[in-house]
Amino acid sequence: MTQGVLYVVATPIGNLEDISLRATRQLSEVSLILAEDTRHTQILLHHLNIRTPLSALHDHNEAGQVPFILQKLRSGEDLALVSDAGTPLISDPGYRLVKAVLEAGIRVSPVPGACAMVAAVSVAGVASDRFAFEGFLPAKTTARRTRLAQLRRETRTLIFYEAPHRILETLQDMREMMGDRELTVCRELTKTFETVRKGVLSDILLWVEQDSQQQRGEMVLVLAGADEDLVEDQEENLRVLYVLLEELPLRQAVDLAVRLTGCRKKWLYDAALARGKRDD
Ligand code: SAM
Repeated sequence: MTQGVLYVVATPIGNLEDISLRATRQLSEVSLILAEDTRHTQILLHHLNIRTPLSALHDHNEAGQVPFILQKLRSGEDLALVSDAGTPLISDPGYRLVKAVLEAGIRVSPVPGACAMVAAVSVAGVASDRFAFEGFLPAKTTARRTRLAQLRRETRTLIFYEAPHRILETLQDMREMMGDRELTVCRELTKTFETVRKGVLSDILLWVEQDSQQQRGEMVLVLAGADEDLVEDQEENLRVLYVLLEELPLRQAVDLAVRLTGCRKKWLYDAALARGKRDD
């Protein structure tokens, strides 16, 4: 018997007209659509006049659903996987399922379309021949700042997803941990209040603080990568710090590194923490 195919189907990130012709056809032809939130996807299906049944597949039930889904695919049924918006698996559920389907030797086929990070990169006006997608930063302050410290020397453009209630804190942390670099905020893409604003972090922060509208909706942050020359200097400064950390307690090592390198104490201190050194 011929096995079925799992189609991984992108759906719009705001504007329903962004659904592709192929996505529409595939969603109406499969026997079942696996959706992150069935009520959410039902609105899209209603708009497209599609009556295919839906079944929930989210982070909490994904592992348990796999055997049932594999059985359907083995018996020849074609299925579709969608998330609430955009491309499944991009900061969305589906990874475990796709892995299991591939491991079972069953075909997985993409039906590409909207993806917020790709849409953002396409309008951010930053170097985009290569970039690093970071998804969501950690929600807790210390973990977020540590992650940013680890990314400080990344020269590729960095792409982040961010929730509106954390935008101010995140911008503050970025300015402090990454320096006053260029950032593009891409908010509510493809929707009525779509906004793309580019500037240095301190200007963007001021603008977001002063206009509460900018603290709402969905947003992607596109941050310029580190300056290559600066990174070389920093490598040398970090080398000094790491040698000192091997011999001395954290605070002493940082104090001495300030004198030897001329770097800011806070920068060296965060770098020492990011290295895993404890402040005893
Ligand atoms: N899978 C989706 C994709 O392909 O982009 C992303 C899902 S993730 C759970 C949701 C995040 O994507 C939001 O918090 C926001 O950062 C970003 N996002 C989604 N839609 C957006 C839009 N219309 N404008 C800006 N950012 C958006």
